[in-house]
Amino acid sequence: MNTTTVAQSQESVNTHTPPAQMPPGPAILPEAACAMTARVFVKAISCEPVLVTGRGQTGAEAARNLLESCAALRTQADAPPPLASRTQRLSAMLACGLKHAMAHTDQKLVERLLKAAALVLAGSVVHTGEGAYQVRSQTEPTTTFYEVHGRTCSCPDSRRHDEDVAAYRCKHVLAACLVMKLDDQEKS
Ligand SMILES: [Zn+2]
Repeated sequence: MNTTTVAQSQESVNTHTPPAQMPPGPAILPEAACAMTARVFVKAISCEPVLVTGRGQTGAEAARNLLESCAALRTQADAPPPLASRTQRLSAMLACGLKHAMAHTDQKLVERLLKAAALVLAGSVVHTGEGAYQVRSQTEPTTTFYEVHGRTCSCPDSRRHDEDVAAYRCKHVLAACLVMKLDDQEKS
């Protein structure tokens, strides 16, 4: 029973007449008469040679297209890789800083780095001038800002470490450093 139904259905498809006016299809390009292939070694793409083909109506045209394709491949391979997103680059910097802090068993620095990254993610760091930043307080973000210049900061934590200014960096200074590095990467 089922077989009969299928056969009838196929017959009805086969006998279907196409509409008198078919919509225009895509233009058919003439097939190239000549093709030339080369194996090109591009270190940035693959450790194996890449197969490149140039086509044309004449041998000279195929050769020219092959050379152009090879040149384009090299230009693309030499181009610098696209910059990762700001969050991805911040994560990489944070991981690097945490590794350094852990190597020195500096748990306080680990905590300040994490807080600094949170300040950056919250958009609490504003560049105000050459080496100068305004960083929002983490505990009173709506009312308090601290002024960061280089390694100095106007916050109470930084003032407590006045005698150790060369080595100590509060979370606001660390946050400003992270933003400075992120901005520098985008300039280059
Ligand atoms: Zn500070």
